[in-house]
Amino acid sequence: MAGVPRIAVVGGGFAGAAFALHLIRANGARPIALDVYEPLPLLGAGLAYSSEDPAHRINVAAARMAVFSEDPTHFDRWFRETGEAAADPDALLEDGRAYPRRAAFGRYMDQLLRHAARAFPNVRFRHLRTKVTDVVPRGDAYRLRTAAGDEIVSDLIVLSPGHPPPPSARWATADAARAPRFIGNPWVPDALAVVRPDDEVLIVGTGLTMADVVSSLRARGHVGAITALSRRGLTPRPRTILPVEPFGTFHQPPTQSAADLLRRVRAGVRAAAKEGKPWECVVDALRQQGTAIWQGLSPASRRLFLRHLRAWWDVHRYQIAPQIDRVLQDDQRSGRLKVVKADILAIRRFEGSFHVSLRPRGKAAHPEVERFFDAVVNCTGPDHGTVVQSNPVLQSMSEGGLLRADPHGLGIDVDSLARAIGRDGTPTRNVFVAGPLARGYFGELMGLPQVSLQPERLAITVSELLGSAEAAKLDMAV
Ligand SMILES: Cc1cc2nc3c(=O)[nH]c(=O)nc-3n(C[C@H](O)[C@H](O)[C@H](O)COP(=O)(O)OP(=O)(O)OC[C@H]3O[C@@H](n4cnc5c(N)ncnc54)[C@H](O)[C@@H]3O)c2cc1C
Repeated sequence: MAGVPRIAVVGGGFAGAAFALHLIRANGARPIALDVYEPLPLLGAGLAYSSEDPAHRINVAAARMAVFSEDPTHFDRWFRETGEAAADPDALLEDGRAYPRRAAFGRYMDQLLRHAARAFPNVRFRHLRTKVTDVVPRGDAYRLRTAAGDEIVSDLIVLSPGHPPPPSARWATADAARAPRFIGNPWVPDALAVVRPDDEVLIVGTGLTMADVVSSLRARGHVGAITALSRRGLTPRPRTILPVEPFGTFHQPPTQSAADLLRRVRAGVRAAAKEGKPWECVVDALRQQGTAIWQGLSPASRRLFLRHLRAWWDVHRYQIAPQIDRVLQDDQRSGRLKVVKADILAIRRFEGSFHVSLRPRGKAAHPEVERFFDAVVNCTGPDHGTVVQSNPVLQSMSEGGLLRADPHGLGIDVDSLARAIGRDGTPTRNVFVAGPLARGYFGELMGLPQVSLQPERLAITVSELLGSAEAAKLDMAV
């Protein structure tokens, strides 16, 4: 590597921006060129925090949205001290916690990163508002091509392209899926605008996206009945208002077995209850120890976990903003929202509405039920199993043998340093992954603070690599 090393961050949503921010801080005075490729105007906002929908709030209290491990409540202070809190009084709860709108966190990340870039003039920082479409090796470096038609050579690449869109609805006929009030991807801005106030709505999926959709529809004046449906009918659990401390040790001694892990967790919840502590304390301990626990499990147990326990884990580990929970509770009490446990058999178009065949689930065998809805919203979540095919840059790198999907369908295969594993099973030189797509190795890597710690550690790895390459006057072979 001759001259100033050029680093490309592909995807400047939360994980990419967190990596760039931490790299700038860890890198010190060394000259580097840092390019963040991100089509959105704000850096750090990404899919979650670019939402302009005022009904969308962060799902953990601001004090837990830690970007800096040494100062976890930085965002909470920023929110209260910059006028953001005054502009959004509903964010503040009586118990003192703050649940800002998601867009506030996007503005915060953008400010943090741009401020850091200005404070370190040795960093030649660029925000390139375009997508990277393909990457090929060029000597010891890589040539990136962008949707804007540029070709730029970089020495090191950090991939952080975020979540893929939801899977296409295999239960809907092509005709139904094309209908105007079939909302295949509710994350598209203003996707819900097509729903009329009295429409009877079917939401497929009962997780956090369902909660967002219900709360957005109600905020837009929707008064029609909503049915939210999933195979298990599980909804995210609201958090207790007690401050919680992690409780229990589940990674030591390590266990290979999902069944043993489940026994330990149940015993942990009972032990916590004896001490007057809520189950959330156990969930927090599991999240902190998530990487070690995941790595201890055998491949068969990981598969078992994903097939049978993941839905339970998700509803306990994902939280819901109390403001949103209130909307759901009120709606359920009044009967306007029904959460049902059922399998969808088919959705067909029928005279401007949807004819839905479903089979309720339960201990007894249930007959098929036919229902009609005016609108259908697919809230089944990101389709991580197809992430490589759904993003052209990942597809091109996969075809070139530079990366591969992880064996559990959670994202991209990486090693302990978050280096992408290539087709031949060895780490690809100077290609790293930041954020949830590295979950196949790191396990629990979805929400903050875990998803900010991984880019922070990666920034230290990359900074050390840049330092050793410079000291040895070598190319950046790891
Ligand atoms: C709707 C939603 C709400 C959430 N809310 C919370 C929350 O409140 N609290 C919490 O802790 N976690 C939340 N999460 C979890 C979330 O996964 C993480 O907090 C985090 O935002 C993920 O960051 P990311 O960088 O991987 O993805 P993103 O932040 O989405 O960033 C990916 C970025 O990559 C860009 N991109 C994609 N492909 C390319 C390309 N080829 N070239 C250039 N750029 C590209 C995209 O434009 C996007 O901006 C939420 C997730 C979702 C989906």
